[in-house]
Amino acid sequence: MKIPFRLLCCLALAFSAGCATQRPAVAPAASQAAPSPLLLISIDGYRADYLQRGLSPTLEQLARDGVRAVGMQPSFPSLTFPNHYTLVTGLRPDHHGIVNNTMLDPQLGKFTLSNRKAVSDGRWWSEATPLWETADQHGVRTATMFWPGTEADIHGRHPDQWLPYNGALTPNQRVDQVLAWLDQPQRPGFLTLYFDGVDHAGHTYGPDTPEVNDALRETDAALARLVEGLRRRGLIDRINVIVLADHGMAPVPQANSVLIDKLVPLDDVQTVGFGVLAGFNPKPGKDFAAIERKLEAPQQHMQCWDKTRVPVRLAYGHNPRVPQLLCLADVGWRITTTAFLAQKHGTVSLGEHGYDNIDPRMQALFVAHGPAFERGVVVKPFANVDVYPLMAHLLNLPPAANDGDYGAVRGMLRPEAR
Ligand code: AMP
Ligand code: ZN
Ligand code: ZN
Repeated sequence: MKIPFRLLCCLALAFSAGCATQRPAVAPAASQAAPSPLLLISIDGYRADYLQRGLSPTLEQLARDGVRAVGMQPSFPSLTFPNHYTLVTGLRPDHHGIVNNTMLDPQLGKFTLSNRKAVSDGRWWSEATPLWETADQHGVRTATMFWPGTEADIHGRHPDQWLPYNGALTPNQRVDQVLAWLDQPQRPGFLTLYFDGVDHAGHTYGPDTPEVNDALRETDAALARLVEGLRRRGLIDRINVIVLADHGMAPVPQANSVLIDKLVPLDDVQTVGFGVLAGFNPKPGKDFAAIERKLEAPQQHMQCWDKTRVPVRLAYGHNPRVPQLLCLADVGWRITTTAFLAQKHGTVSLGEHGYDNIDPRMQALFVAHGPAFERGVVVKPFANVDVYPLMAHLLNLPPAANDGDYGAVRGMLRPEAR
């Protein structure tokens, strides 16, 4: 029998920081008889300071009429799937089990974003309970215009309405789908909407480029279409909208590659993945301890740890899916191999995330607007695990056990909504 990781963690680490961060479930305040609908929007890779570029007028207006955070700290590693699942569970990746975009599990095999079978296999996701599942249990209808995890049958449930991920759907088409869902007689109480153009441009060209600026404009135009659609339906002041990102983006110059094959023989390890956070497991018959000794010694432009020695503040390394040895690139660097670079003819992505989650370039957007939110308030940075207890409160749902703190975000709500 597989013992759930969280239980294992609590048994083994009952008195350590790893488990102490897991806060008990708190009953939500019965502040609203019939909660307003909640729309959670992710603009993948929208770094907190992009808002100051003057290219997101709709977002700026929502912030002026609502709440904006100076920044929101992602969980480590600052990658897409781990952080999207953190946002809807309130658990750090080590606790919810989506510990990377690329994972190996002894029972389940390999997980990658492009592996449709893995992404839609509920067993990868079942260490946590996403908000749409709790909503469903309490009779709140849910509709998701993409969100990692929504394609999977988690504990036998999907959102009531969901679509398989299709990157070709334009931002406007995604907005129109959300508006169509809101037009249904049985209006959903919790909805998601996901945009990926800003992240794509950030990777391909780097964050400080005209291409990212074009993506910011295009995404904002879709938000303007959404706001106009909500206004025409008389919903703009009756729906709570949270617009956020999963992480930021750092420029990575073409030349900034750590070639890890020059440091250790990669044939002697099982490689889980390269990139910003590389992971390796032992290979039978090979001297893994020697490889660990070599890589854990000070290295240029990266730092490596056995998973038991990861700094506590990163809250990472207890989950069995975390590889035994981790190498984290310094911000602005990538970890790769000579062969990979040759195959790519030197063309690598010029923007990356996944780095240390305290780095300023990894901080994410947070803007919220609606009847529950204060108007014209700027709040100090907070951790993205706190979004889940905030959303559970807004929907009047009992939150599952999580790592977040409602107290850290309650001040952004109007007194009558707290
Ligand atoms: P990354 O930048 O590697 O952390 O991954 C971000 C990318 O994941 C996005 O740019 C999307 O193309 C892709 N993505 C987002 N949602 C999904 C999904 N539900 N299924 C597969 N891929 C996705
Ligand atoms: Zn992302
Ligand atoms: Zn990305």
